[in-house]
Amino acid sequence: MASGNDRIGREQRLLKEGKKKYIAELGKQLIQLREGCGLTEPESPLETAKHIYRIVHTLKGSAPMFEFVRIGSVAQRLVELWEWTQREKAEASGPMTALPFGRCAEQSQPLLRELELELEVYKRELELDEQQEQVNSSFLQPNGERLLILDDDEVLRSYLVRRLRMDGYEVDEAADVATAMKLLRENSYHLITLDLMMHPDSGYELFEFLKNDPTLKWLPLIVLSGRNDVNDKVRCFYLGADDYVTKPFQYEELGARIYSLLSRTKTFEQMAFRDPLTGVYNRRFFDHQIQVELERIARYPAPISLAFIDIDGFKSINDTYGHRVGDQVLQGLAHLLQNNLRATDMLARFGGEEFILVLPNTTGPDAKKAIDDILRQAHHGPVAQNEGQAFHITFSAGIAEWSAGMSVKDWIGLADGAMYEAKQGGRNRTILYAGTPPGEAAGAQVASPGSRKTVMIADDDNILRSILIAKLKHLPVDFREAANGEEAYQSLLRRPVDLCILDGVMPQLNGFEMLARMKEQGNRPEEMKVLVLSGRSREEDISLGLKLGADAYMHKPFSMVELELRVKEMLNLS
Ligand code: GH3
Ligand code: MG
Ligand code: MG
Repeated sequence: MASGNDRIGREQRLLKEGKKKYIAELGKQLIQLREGCGLTEPESPLETAKHIYRIVHTLKGSAPMFEFVRIGSVAQRLVELWEWTQREKAEASGPMTALPFGRCAEQSQPLLRELELELEVYKRELELDEQQEQVNSSFLQPNGERLLILDDDEVLRSYLVRRLRMDGYEVDEAADVATAMKLLRENSYHLITLDLMMHPDSGYELFEFLKNDPTLKWLPLIVLSGRNDVNDKVRCFYLGADDYVTKPFQYEELGARIYSLLSRTKTFEQMAFRDPLTGVYNRRFFDHQIQVELERIARYPAPISLAFIDIDGFKSINDTYGHRVGDQVLQGLAHLLQNNLRATDMLARFGGEEFILVLPNTTGPDAKKAIDDILRQAHHGPVAQNEGQAFHITFSAGIAEWSAGMSVKDWIGLADGAMYEAKQGGRNRTILYAGTPPGEAAGAQVASPGSRKTVMIADDDNILRSILIAKLKHLPVDFREAANGEEAYQSLLRRPVDLCILDGVMPQLNGFEMLARMKEQGNRPEEMKVLVLSGRSREEDISLGLKLGADAYMHKPFSMVELELRVKEMLNLS
């Protein structure tokens, strides 16, 4: 069925292409016909008449193929009018008298006029069609949102997947709850549809899973169920479903519901994270995102700078020209800043007329250069115009580069302080904070002694993992678990830990292989210590582990007391 739809779509595209070409061609042919049927008799009337015949004959045949039916029937009348050119007699009757040609040319005039009108109408229709298509594509075209379809009904699932892909979505599928959970952990989705009645786990299992994961809690969810039972529906909505569609359903309806849910979610996100006046991020988003940026820096060290920008004399703009102009100036500056940023930069409105800018991969001096440039632009080109009046502004900015160990609050404080200095110094300038921040001695990047350490336990043996956690639980540490080397590797790259207790032998990727990969990729978290546990005690294993960067080695079975001592020692816990 889907391939049938593919074909229909292709045919329609071809037809539309054909129509467009045909309209262009028809325009040219009409000019030729007009010339041929001109009021003055041509030099060789018979040749001209035959040429006219050929054109109208072709029109008659081809116009209906492109659905230009009315053009076809006008052409038919023209063909009849010029039919005589095809009779042998036409040639034999000697030199053409002016009569047949002139009369036909004259009788053709209203028909040509009709053709021209039809052409105009069809042209207009095609234009409207194209406009509509553009509107549709800007409205309805999904922006590659990624969906997950969970259903154990193979036929329905693959049909849905195909239709949704045709609509422009990126789609993954799962036939059971376990696969869906795996995919949800590995990828990020914009929406999930799920079936309730499945084996071995029912769809309800997934609700629990989603609810307990803070990153999945808000994932838009549509239940597709064969059961039209009110209790099921009620239960699903209470568990967090956003919509409930009963099978059988029309694809169009589901498609529309998915579209509506996705766009509503997007709108809510906009409302929650954007400043409504300027469209840039709001304080709430900034507070969240700045933490994400710093976590990234912890993994991939790179410079990062922050700029605090405050418009000069903004109050007097409001007082002199009114709030509306003030608002326009804010929008204009936001626009100017946004236009001068890199894709990775983040701009947020911090408060009234204050903006904050985060520039990853940028040193303080480079950030200053960039902001100086924007300041020049704000001063020269107007940031806003109102009733013929142009508004130029200046601002004062403070810039601070982040250094290891600095909290977000301190960092903003430094940039804010530099901004204050810029105001004091006469405004219309940028100042880069330089110097050691108070209380920031060398080596401050080491976590303060009171902070908790994190330990990763990577072992495929569930029971051993829980025993280890139970035994080490009294230490001031947080635990993370992984059931194989691959999982551990991914998790460690996302967030490093202080100590990794690593089983040497595991499925998929074993502990040694994980260490080898980190060594090869050069991405082992710097501060992380590694303790290898292995059932095999061969000397080679130990030396291999140490060569690959293990800090210590213990072989199973080991004493819990010994393990605890080792862990404390490796984490510098007294
Ligand atoms: P300075 O050069 O020292 O920064 O002086 P200033 O006048 O820019 O600073 P001040 O903090 O005294 O005034 C800020 C003004 O911004 C006061 C407030 O009414 C106005 N404001 C805050 N939010 C908005 C807004 O959303 N729209 C408009 N139009 N004005 C706003
Ligand atoms: Mg201010
Ligand atoms: Mg100000």
